[in-house]
Amino acid sequence: MFRAQQLRWIALSMLLSASLAVCSGADARPFRGGIPWSFLLCKFSDSPAPANDPSYFRNMTINAGTKGLDDYVSSISNGLADLSGSSLHGWYTEPHTTAYELALTNRYQRLQDCVDAAKASPTDPYTVPSGQRIYVITSPFVDLVGFENSAALGSDTVALPEIAHEFGHGVGLNHSWSNDVTWKDISWAGPGEYDNPWDLMSAANIYVDQTGDFGGAPPDLDAQHLDEMGWIAKSRILTLGADGVLSRTATITALTHPEGAGYRIIRIPFDSNDRFHYYTVEYRVADGWDAGIPNSTLMINEVQNNGSYYQTTLIRELGSFAGTGNGPPVQSLNANGVSVSVVRTSTDTATVQVSTQFALPCAQGYVWREASSIDRVCVVPATRTQTAQDNAAAIRRAGGGSYGPDTCKQGFVWREAYPDDHVCVTPAIRSQAANDNAAAYDHVNESLVTYGPNTCGQGFVWRDGDDSDYVCVTAQTRSQTATDNAAAASRKAGSGAYGPDTCKQGFVWREAWPNDHVCVTPATRAQAQADNGQATGRLQTLYALAEPPRAVRTGWSLFGFVGRAEASVLIGSAEASEMTESMGPPPVSESVMRTRIAKMNVGDVQKLELKGNVWEATVTKDGKVSVLRFHAQNAAKPELAR
Ligand SMILES: [Zn+2]
Repeated sequence: MFRAQQLRWIALSMLLSASLAVCSGADARPFRGGIPWSFLLCKFSDSPAPANDPSYFRNMTINAGTKGLDDYVSSISNGLADLSGSSLHGWYTEPHTTAYELALTNRYQRLQDCVDAAKASPTDPYTVPSGQRIYVITSPFVDLVGFENSAALGSDTVALPEIAHEFGHGVGLNHSWSNDVTWKDISWAGPGEYDNPWDLMSAANIYVDQTGDFGGAPPDLDAQHLDEMGWIAKSRILTLGADGVLSRTATITALTHPEGAGYRIIRIPFDSNDRFHYYTVEYRVADGWDAGIPNSTLMINEVQNNGSYYQTTLIRELGSFAGTGNGPPVQSLNANGVSVSVVRTSTDTATVQVSTQFALPCAQGYVWREASSIDRVCVVPATRTQTAQDNAAAIRRAGGGSYGPDTCKQGFVWREAYPDDHVCVTPAIRSQAANDNAAAYDHVNESLVTYGPNTCGQGFVWRDGDDSDYVCVTAQTRSQTATDNAAAASRKAGSGAYGPDTCKQGFVWREAWPNDHVCVTPATRAQAQADNGQATGRLQTLYALAEPPRAVRTGWSLFGFVGRAEASVLIGSAEASEMTESMGPPPVSESVMRTRIAKMNVGDVQKLELKGNVWEATVTKDGKVSVLRFHAQNAAKPELAR
């Protein structure tokens, strides 16, 4: 299991500056529905003819059903988001030469020059709509960079994994890390940065399915990053300890199998000083977008504040692996009062035993029930006293009967405050225990509740229109939403101009998200649109925005010198930071290369040789011999050498 034997990309250079959050427009986290981008293709005054036409890039980015970026986003978001509303324009020709663009020191200018060329085009003018994200693809390569939450810049030699990675920055995601802090992906990377090859946000050091189209298929986002996007439904998240149960056996389904039963992520908080500091547990299997990962594996990350953002830190085995960036992900954990171990795995699921000593303190006026030694459900003191008395009243057991030795005497039933709680109590007390369990979240100290990356700021709560509705609204709107949901069936006309979901007179579809056909008043519908527009600003701020920008570094890439970056740039009135990396994938295997060439339908391979970091293929088609050079293995189309 050495790096060279794996289909891992090695990042050769990257540039990074601090994260200064930027919010552009109404479509922002949590992401639901279309995420509209303007994709612009630009060449320079001296560029050779690009190898691919706009339809190729439409398939790579915005078209559905092509195994490109739109399919990727749609799939990993479990259908919650896609690129609908996006458009692609070009090729435009900028007035400047390639050398001029390469020499620019302001990297955003490279993006801006393309935006300007599109606007000034005499034949196909295009102005990027205000607030829309921008993705510029140039020919040839001049830069590879993501501008946080706003824009990205790549080239026509950049493969889908990197295109997707910069898209990730464009929707606000940051890099992933590992605990192997004596390893650096490249000299100027942070210690352990880019060291989760199972997560898109470690590209170019990621597992790529080399048989994928457009230069290979990237792996999924890690579970925390999916959660951050709002792409894991609430019912599929277990926050251990939040309901007072500190130890349990839980089944998690592989990230690529959201249709399976079980949780998609387990959060295990352990830091009473920082409710966003927790472990995450996820399960990955080698199929779907994860087809490039080496094998099925449990992944445990620590989510922690690095001073600029909450980073995911993959916990690897260190020991003899320390400093290699290559330790396998740990399959069990015993640290900070938390333990995780695998009970069993099946094809698509892992069953784990998880426990934590971290219990949420109760809100004022409530105390732990302590029906068992680990019961931390918050109840009123009278219930706690009652619970202790019931525990002591063992004589209520009949000592035998239809429920075995735990059968209760007449008039008593099992309390079931926790699984297998066979203390015999009155039916009223059993009901009380069930009610207390259901209200567990309401009676803990709210300041320590971990609701994860989409926690609402003060004064707001999730709208909860459905299991994936993370939009933060007032308590009043939340109540209105519940009322509207309950009345949904009664407000439908049953048939009409809009089909079976047509609303009765006076009502309209709420459309709080695409296909939200709950019928509400026009005022409520307007409220939903307004709340959606303000969703990002109402989230709890997790980033340390006051941090000064980190130094920007320069470096070399396979594509040549990458110029010195500006620390930050202005986009409209907001400041954005750059998050950049160049890539240099190691040579792929001959069989993968042959598969790719076959897919390209460029002819029969007569000869295939690896020369340095370039595959050279001699092919014949219709009696014509061509030599193709693949300068980078992620290049979707080769250069015709002769
Ligand atoms: Zn990056």
